[in-house]
Amino acid sequence: MPISYEASLEYAQAQDRTDPLFSFRERFLFPQHDGKDACYFCGNSLGLQPKSVAYLMEKELDDWAKHGVEGHFRARNPWFSYHHLFTDRLAKLVGAQPGEVVAANALTVNLHLLMLSFYRPDSTKYKILMEAGAFPSDQYAVETQVRMYGYDPEDAIIEISPREGQHIIEEEDIINAIEYNREHLQMVMIGGVNYYTGQFFDLKKITDVAHRNGAYAGFDLAHAVGNVPLQLHDWGVDFACWCSYKYLNSGPGAVGGMYVHEHHGNNPKSFRLAGWWGNDEKTRFKMEKGFIPQPGVAGWQMSNAPVFNMVAHNAALDIFEKAGISELREKSIKLTGYLEYLLKQIKHLPFGIITPAEPSRRGCQLSLLFAERGREVFEKLTQNGVVADWREPNVIRIAPVPLYNTFEDAFRFYEVLMSLQ
Ligand SMILES: *Cc1c(COP(=O)(O)O)cnc(C)c1O
Repeated sequence: MPISYEASLEYAQAQDRTDPLFSFRERFLFPQHDGKDACYFCGNSLGLQPKSVAYLMEKELDDWAKHGVEGHFRARNPWFSYHHLFTDRLAKLVGAQPGEVVAANALTVNLHLLMLSFYRPDSTKYKILMEAGAFPSDQYAVETQVRMYGYDPEDAIIEISPREGQHIIEEEDIINAIEYNREHLQMVMIGGVNYYTGQFFDLKKITDVAHRNGAYAGFDLAHAVGNVPLQLHDWGVDFACWCSYKYLNSGPGAVGGMYVHEHHGNNPKSFRLAGWWGNDEKTRFKMEKGFIPQPGVAGWQMSNAPVFNMVAHNAALDIFEKAGISELREKSIKLTGYLEYLLKQIKHLPFGIITPAEPSRRGCQLSLLFAERGREVFEKLTQNGVVADWREPNVIRIAPVPLYNTFEDAFRFYEVLMSLQ
């Protein structure tokens, strides 16, 4: 059944009143505009701060002051095991077993580390397939990985582009390319949700086809985690990594996340670069020679956990657990659908939505491609307290985030666009 929306403030407010997740908004701090909360549509770049963070941070500062080094074991949340506090919640969010996820390092670092484990090319299998227009950090990472082994990126990286005149990539083209390149294809490495268009790829299907054709499947989930439902374990995904400062609201430069499927993670022979934090916890402080990896992806950790950095992550994951990712997804589909409906009522501005129209092929982002006047529209939004994101040369990205955005926010956005002559 298509949902019947209405372009009115009364309708938007009525939707908010019956939204079971409405009160979650209260848990976040909003940038202010003219003494009011801004309409914040940038959760895909930097999520908002949970109100609980300040208090929780204070608690760790107190424990540090009080205990010094003893805080590793005596803090109220001992730092030795701090990262264990939220492993289960993180695992649930990405559809993994608890032993398959760990929070550590940062996204691009983790992508390199995981590629060091999974991209072990030889003269037959050395090619990597990715989407054209991937986030630049991913492009740089993949390019330098293939160069490290002496391959030419032009030959070793297969990029799948949208068809002529289109903006999104047909999955069929990815699948055909995997099959066509099967002899030399070592790995598929794709951004699960594209940062620019908001396209959500069918990760299960891509993983299946990659495996049938003798390649690993790894994903960068920066724009997928906390946005769309994921079942990494059941889909058989080999590895994945993500950052936590976008939809996960864990603060600027927040700790990243890693996933490794248990059949690789529990194999002590899986290659990884080692550090003491990946070593068996029982023998870690014996400071002896001979790395004994912890089972699971925990054995990929290197350095001791960045506790201050993890305070916000812990607080944010708590909120996700309380809201529930399926409930969030349900609201997200409705809210993004509403914003899309409103945008379609606007006939006097020259833009189109390049994000896929099917809810199953997108998360909560809409990307508007302007033929002209894009910059002017963006500035008008900013002046009116709407925080959106500008991408050169002509795209405005907006993310109605189900945790804290409202139907009224969507309507306010529409009103600003309508007010432009
Ligand atoms: C945000 C984002 C990054 C950023 O990488 P950092 O290492 O966290 O700075 C990388 N890749 C993708 C796909 C992203 O969306």
